[in-house]
Amino acid sequence: MATILYMVVPCYNEELVIDETSRRLKAKYDALISAGKISRKSRVVYVNDGSKDKTWDKIQEKYQEDEMFSGINLSCNRGHQNALLAGLMTVKEFADCVISMDADLQDDIDTIDAMLDKFIDEECDVVYGVRDNRDTDTFFKRNTAGLFYKIMRGLGSQSIPNHADFRLMSQRAIYGLAEFPEENLFLRGLVPLVGYKSTVVYYKRGERFAGESKYPLKKMVSFAIDGITSTSATPMRIIFWVGLITFIFAIIGVLYIIIRHFSAGADADGWASLIIAIIGIGGANLLAIGIVGEYIGKIFIEVKRRPRYIIEDFINE
Ligand code: UDP
Ligand code: MG
Repeated sequence: MATILYMVVPCYNEELVIDETSRRLKAKYDALISAGKISRKSRVVYVNDGSKDKTWDKIQEKYQEDEMFSGINLSCNRGHQNALLAGLMTVKEFADCVISMDADLQDDIDTIDAMLDKFIDEECDVVYGVRDNRDTDTFFKRNTAGLFYKIMRGLGSQSIPNHADFRLMSQRAIYGLAEFPEENLFLRGLVPLVGYKSTVVYYKRGERFAGESKYPLKKMVSFAIDGITSTSATPMRIIFWVGLITFIFAIIGVLYIIIRHFSAGADADGWASLIIAIIGIGGANLLAIGIVGEYIGKIFIEVKRRPRYIIEDFINE
């Protein structure tokens, strides 16, 4: 039976690109349908993330023109990650697999074939589209992104492929994702936690077809901070270690000053006691913050209410 493929495409102020994106997706779907790879029930679902321009009108227009296109209209702008999640959760019951893609055609539509092959022939549940060039990103974005993924890998226990949210997920992988009820969403960090067999395919990332990036520097920085703080409590643990080390140095310093005071006795009046107080209290403070941090770290992990496991198989009788 041919695979039912859904594409989820989040759109925020993308009126300039929807025509072209739809044209290219339509051509791709037609080819895949005639090759017998995907079913006629396959759809492209645009998620309008509270756009201020005519994006929703455009989406409705596409829906009128062709049953291949559907649309989800969010009540207001909730950001790329939430728009993506809205799409995935809405279509999960209809699709055998879902590919998420940006609206601006930076993700290469021809990569869909390779993703489907991995899903159909190799039974992979997650296929990450990884860019094998970053020529089209600015020098700044290229380097900050590289650094970001290095930090993420250094901090986390899981590996996160360096990819934008261009990826295929099987139906059961999306149901797995649905088990994560957290508020602070960083899908790139979560999808690897769902588990199942995954792989990567490489593609060349193109230029944005029209319009401008919806990720200005401010959003990029907050996205990066979200990414780090929602996947890892390690920064807090670093405070603990710095506190502990400072505290040990403080004790050594205090001992040194006491010994020096009594053996040489050469310091100014009150110097030794003052310095002892400053170093001692400073070190104890940092250590205390670190210990509090450990507990906050536990709370942070608890409140996520993440599933503790996802069962892949259960063989019985
Ligand atoms: N996007 C969204 N909501 C937002 C910001 C962006 O749905 O609040 C969508 C946007 O329409 C695009 C995708 O997320 O389809 C990626 O955004 P963009 O191409 O601007 O990011 P960049 O490629 O520059 O990182
Ligand atoms: Mg883009």
